[in-house]
Amino acid sequence: MTEPESAGQPELSKTYSPEAVEGPTSRRWLDQDLFRADPASGKPRFSMALPPPNVTGSLHIGHALDHTFQDYLARMHRMRGFEVLWLPGMDHAGIATQNVVERELAKEGKTRFDLGREAFVERVWEWKAASGGRILGQMQRLGDSVDWSRERFTMDEGLSRAVRHVFVSLYEQGLLYRGQRIINWCPRCLTALSDIEVEHEEIPGELAHLRYPLADGSGQVEVATSRAETMLGDTAVAVHPEDPRYRDLIGRTVRLPLVDRDIPIVADEAVDRAFGTGAVKVTPAHDPNDYEIAQRHDLPAINVLTEEAIVNQHGGRFQGLDRYAAREAVKQAFAQLGLLGKVAVAPHAVGHCYRCHTEVEPRLSLQWFVATKPLAEEAMAAVRSDRTRFEPARYEKTFFGWMESIRDWCVSRQLWWGHRIPAWYCPDGHVTVARTDPDACAECGQGGLTQDEDVLDTWFSSALWPLSTLGWPDQSEDLAAFYPTSVLVTGYDIIFFWVARMLMFGCHFLPPTPFEVVAIHGMVRDAHGKKMSKSFGNVIDPIELMDRYGTDALRFALIRGANPGGDVPLAEEWVEGARNFANKLWHLGRFVLSTVPASALNTTPGTRVEGVAGAAPAGPAVAPGGDALADRWLRSRLERTRAAVSAAYDRYDPAEAARLLHAFAWSELADWAVELAKPRLAAGGEDARRAGVTLVHALDVTLKLLHPVMPFVTEELARALSGVETITLGPWPAERAGDLDADAETAMTDLQEVIAALRRFRAEHHVSPGSKPRCTIVPADQRQAALFAAEASSVRRLARLAEFTVAPPGTAPTGEPATKLLAAAAELYLPLAGLLDLDEERRRLERERVTLEAERDRATAKLANPDFVAKAPPPVVDKVRARLAEVDADLAKVAEQFGALGG
Ligand SMILES: [Zn+2]
Ligand SMILES: [Zn+2]
Repeated sequence: MTEPESAGQPELSKTYSPEAVEGPTSRRWLDQDLFRADPASGKPRFSMALPPPNVTGSLHIGHALDHTFQDYLARMHRMRGFEVLWLPGMDHAGIATQNVVERELAKEGKTRFDLGREAFVERVWEWKAASGGRILGQMQRLGDSVDWSRERFTMDEGLSRAVRHVFVSLYEQGLLYRGQRIINWCPRCLTALSDIEVEHEEIPGELAHLRYPLADGSGQVEVATSRAETMLGDTAVAVHPEDPRYRDLIGRTVRLPLVDRDIPIVADEAVDRAFGTGAVKVTPAHDPNDYEIAQRHDLPAINVLTEEAIVNQHGGRFQGLDRYAAREAVKQAFAQLGLLGKVAVAPHAVGHCYRCHTEVEPRLSLQWFVATKPLAEEAMAAVRSDRTRFEPARYEKTFFGWMESIRDWCVSRQLWWGHRIPAWYCPDGHVTVARTDPDACAECGQGGLTQDEDVLDTWFSSALWPLSTLGWPDQSEDLAAFYPTSVLVTGYDIIFFWVARMLMFGCHFLPPTPFEVVAIHGMVRDAHGKKMSKSFGNVIDPIELMDRYGTDALRFALIRGANPGGDVPLAEEWVEGARNFANKLWHLGRFVLSTVPASALNTTPGTRVEGVAGAAPAGPAVAPGGDALADRWLRSRLERTRAAVSAAYDRYDPAEAARLLHAFAWSELADWAVELAKPRLAAGGEDARRAGVTLVHALDVTLKLLHPVMPFVTEELARALSGVETITLGPWPAERAGDLDADAETAMTDLQEVIAALRRFRAEHHVSPGSKPRCTIVPADQRQAALFAAEASSVRRLARLAEFTVAPPGTAPTGEPATKLLAAAAELYLPLAGLLDLDEERRRLERERVTLEAERDRATAKLANPDFVAKAPPPVVDKVRARLAEVDADLAKVAEQFGALGG
């Protein structure tokens, strides 16, 4: 069999240049269409839906982590022979996108109302075509191996049909209704918000006590409120039925000041007797708890604020004031009437709009709701029965906690950009909900229907993402091939927003589940664990980092910090360190290519891409073998690393895989294995070929194992090394259990320890690099004796020795002054004459002894002082004790070294 020569393989540049490699590699992958999934494939399936970034978005560091995490899964499965579908797309991002376009309009001095609904929505589509989707190019830059042929958008035709189908189906099933509820209202965005779109934040605030006179003039009731202006809409005062202070007032009437309305005093068990005075004002239109009290006592609800949170016509003379001005004005008016009690500072949590940070106003309004309880039951059942598993499992608790206390989901939004609610109203107010636009009322048959003005919450369509992107509600080929999806990767911050809702819709409409595993990762933080935010000035831009250090470096640094489910600290130095790792691999590749015999190359299987269909493994030409210790050891360590890396990847712990590969590639492969191989390669012949084969094999396997995390540098090196077109389609390095060799690993550990001890000695005593000591080793046993005799030349070379003599075990060399080192249970003797200036060495040891003794005396005195021992905190005392033990040990060492010098 003739072995191919390495002549045709690409030359590697002197240093690794990410910009020269990444773009062309990325283009080649796309040109060859390597990431397109085939639903008809006979391979096992692996599918993921990419969490759709907002159409307004650009790649931030959180995306970089999230996408790299998914990409490692996609690439690893592809290499392992799975048919992989990783489906990309974008979210229309209702409020966010509408805000962007409204801001553009504002620059032209216009509002959306000037354009009208139709023209405004058209304008948003124009904006999307022109500036939306910048993130898609950035995803290519990051190396996302998604199937671009299947890119979807939450507002495209198919997905819109799925949304409508779900809305109508839920309505028909009684799981979606229209009702009056107190909802969270943003007076700036002018829309309802769901509970989780509201961010609660402590504000200074105050609690004002207001006195309401009894209607018959016989006394007063005092209530406390942080929002005095809402008293304009009070329709009752409530007390606890068992509160002795107020028992006699129940059923009586107060005359509400400023608006002069008579309102009842009611008894309700929901009243907290400990809050304020124990009597509470009831404002059903502006407080969810008050609304519930009003339902129980049949009280009217009076809305006193406009949509912009300005007092309306029900606020009498306060009409036209915004809520904050009205708050002050109402207090002042109470003061003038002598009805203002104490006003105390009382910090409390207030909800803010998650988009624009305006204080949210609870508001009574007519909205559409999804009845979530039955859906949540189905979703929880899926997790309980392990149809869906959280990784790490601790996030199941978070999920259940939220699902168990879930409230109905307000899904209507007063926006124009989004899926318009498919509900029509006839002149008599009957509701028609339909899959196709109706001409007549479903109830009375009248024409002249008007469609609901509102659109659906953005999360309504994202909740359908894993189904709708595969073609559902149609029975598409993709759906049959790739549903349920295998894994959903996301940060813990949107378990509620998104994961829970996908599970609810997915389990209900297309059981058994939308995804089998939910892999949760943390948030990227700065090196000190602090949240990244513009106001802290610690935001890291992934694009800048890719420019500076290359994409692989950014990906590696992120993955290396991504401990399962935990937050991911990131500092620029670590990305720089990862860039150095890419360079180390590059230099390793160059060394191997330039030193191993051509006959040792092309030894490894890869994939030749001749049209993807014809992809076939090439080689192996030469199987890695050889009896040399260095070969046996490297193969064994490689196999152990391969197994541990594969296992870590499998348990969604790519951080551990990255650490193992870094340690193996850097220290064992690039340092030890290369150094051990150098003389063998230089000597040529059959042994050089064997050494070369082992190195090539180890490097090739390492590159393939690293490929899911660092796709660019590994692909480029692997191509140069084995002449394959790509490694991105695999094969994944196979198990080689026969390579495990515990004896070789033990032997190599002994060698490494001895060499390390000699190197340490040189460093500690500043032995010049040119001087070569002699060394005699007394091995611990016969096994070591044979080992050191066989590997003497390696030890001599790597520890820079003139001579390395192996004495029989159990003997002790006599004669000239020598220092004794211990390593791997063996004794090492180094004659000192000529190596060190003995007088200078004695002086140095003397100085060290004096310093150490002084420290010992200080520590001893401290510990002899009963005051110190009794009063200092125990950890401090322990520290002094520990230090004293160290000093004693160092003194013993100094004494031993004195002895070695002959006094
Ligand atoms: Zn807002
Ligand atoms: Zn009707």
